[in-house]
Amino acid sequence: MKRQVLCGMLCIGICMNAQGQEEKKYPDPAPMQPEMSEFWTPQPKIVVPPDMDQAIVTPPSDAIVLLGLEADNADEWVNCDPNKTVEWGVEKGIMTVKPNSGSIRTKREFGDFQLHVEWSAPTEIVGESQGRGNSGVFMQGLYEVQILDNYGNETYANGQAGSIYKQTPPLVNACQKPGKWNTYDIIYTAPRFKEDGSLQSHGRITVLHNGVLIQNNTMILGTTEFIGFPRIVAHGKGPIILQDHLNPVRFRNIWIREL
Ligand code: MG
Repeated sequence: MKRQVLCGMLCIGICMNAQGQEEKKYPDPAPMQPEMSEFWTPQPKIVVPPDMDQAIVTPPSDAIVLLGLEADNADEWVNCDPNKTVEWGVEKGIMTVKPNSGSIRTKREFGDFQLHVEWSAPTEIVGESQGRGNSGVFMQGLYEVQILDNYGNETYANGQAGSIYKQTPPLVNACQKPGKWNTYDIIYTAPRFKEDGSLQSHGRITVLHNGVLIQNNTMILGTTEFIGFPRIVAHGKGPIILQDHLNPVRFRNIWIREL
């Protein structure tokens, strides 16, 4: 009996390769947990940003308007789930996440660009940390700049508003209080890939939050992953995605300039 057990154990550690030779097998890595890619310190310093409520940055003449100032529809957007329609409400230029209806993406796809997005966290404060006023804007559908109500609400540093989510914290916390409007001005250079799909150069991103620099030509390490490490995935142009993270975050005045 003992001999049988020992024989079984040895077979687990050895398998045959294509040439019929014994190949050593190593243990799989331990399963990743979300907390393993989160760090809390140092917390970004809080700065009081300008009031952007009335400082409307109207789209330049060469911009593609993705959500107009007087919009009453989401014509530029589709549900990320191809079997669903966009259920987010749009009224007088303000588009509101309908929780649990799905994230939305632009019909158009983009490479390098300048993007202007305005967002406002719900005035009814619900939840804490990542559960408060959470949404996000994804470059090329893969790389998230976090949207979060970080006004009097701490969370892990690399998950704060304006972080490259789970990668790089914002330089400072420039959040407006819930109900006030925040602006993101994003300058994005897409990653480049060689013909064989390997990485030629990382993506780069600069972000101003309410006019305050929070990402300064930051290198994007790879895809945004909730669990695990960023991955390098070859791709071409991609959409802008706005995240449904179950909080009724509002958006307005979204436009993009292709570079
Ligand atoms: Mg998010």
